[in-house]
Amino acid sequence: MMNHVTTTVAVFGSCNMDLVAYVGTAPKRGETVLGREFHTVPGGKGANQAIAAAKAGAAVRMIGAVGEDEFGAQIRDTLRKSTVDVTGVRTVPGRSGTAHIVVDDEGGNSIVVVPGANATVDGLADGDEELIAGSRSLLLQLEIPLPGVAAAAAAGRRNGVRVVLTPAPAVPLPAEILSNVDLLVPNEHEAAVLAGDDDPHRALAALLELVPEVLITLGARGSLYGNRDGARVEAPSFPVDAVDTTAAGDTFVGVLSAALGEGAEMPEALRLASAGAAVSVQRNGASSSMPTRQEITDFLA
Ligand code: ATP
Repeated sequence: MMNHVTTTVAVFGSCNMDLVAYVGTAPKRGETVLGREFHTVPGGKGANQAIAAAKAGAAVRMIGAVGEDEFGAQIRDTLRKSTVDVTGVRTVPGRSGTAHIVVDDEGGNSIVVVPGANATVDGLADGDEELIAGSRSLLLQLEIPLPGVAAAAAAGRRNGVRVVLTPAPAVPLPAEILSNVDLLVPNEHEAAVLAGDDDPHRALAALLELVPEVLITLGARGSLYGNRDGARVEAPSFPVDAVDTTAAGDTFVGVLSAALGEGAEMPEALRLASAGAAVSVQRNGASSSMPTRQEITDFLA
């Protein structure tokens, strides 16, 4: 285990309020069903990765936007309570981003995402460059407009910051973004879409033509890392009873960036990230399920 030197991670991405309804069977078009329970939970891939990295011990700066509504205040509050610096989170007119999630008794879900304030994050605002420049790594996802992702990636590259992109949701990626990405972290589905190949090993090789380092997450089957120097690491997942895999990928990336920033080698960072994700899937919820550094250490003991 490496020393716990605090590293600084910047996240440029989405902040949402997840509105989650639990039902027996999800309604079909035109149908109304009675649900069992309802929860509101701050989420969005950006905020989730920020919280995961902060809980894993990193000093984290979130850059993004929330609306003027009550959700915006709650999202900001949750980030702050997880020790995330919210200087870069703007409050803009209108609604915060929302994800309307229906979870059925079999654990299946359907989701409508309304971007709200996230749609305004289409470039760098005053102060963003400084927040990015002072960080060891920059975490990006695709839940904000692509011009925003491109501007942040370019700022990361300009300032020598390691740029880590989770390409979710999977959309074709402009070369302008990929040319500034150091590490691409797709899940199996996203890797298949981006590489045009269902086989993770072949997809990894294809994606290494685009970026120097690739890490494909394979759910309960673990993860697969490779770089252009020919290094390959296969990290198994930890066998646990999963009750809710929401944000397993975001927990994984958050913990990974905290560990890499502290100077861990890739195999050790992958082990910590896999352990963090394994702890999170045993609990319900997204940000609320993410483990602290101590919980990850205890899990591995
Ligand atoms: P999400 O979209 O829910 O955030 P994802 O599809 O991006 O998830 P996955 O590939 O499902 O990401 O999972 C990321 C990592 O989490 C895996 O590489 C693995 O280490 C861990 N993980 C996921 N599911 C399980 C599980 N059922 N048991 C143990 N570990 C798991």
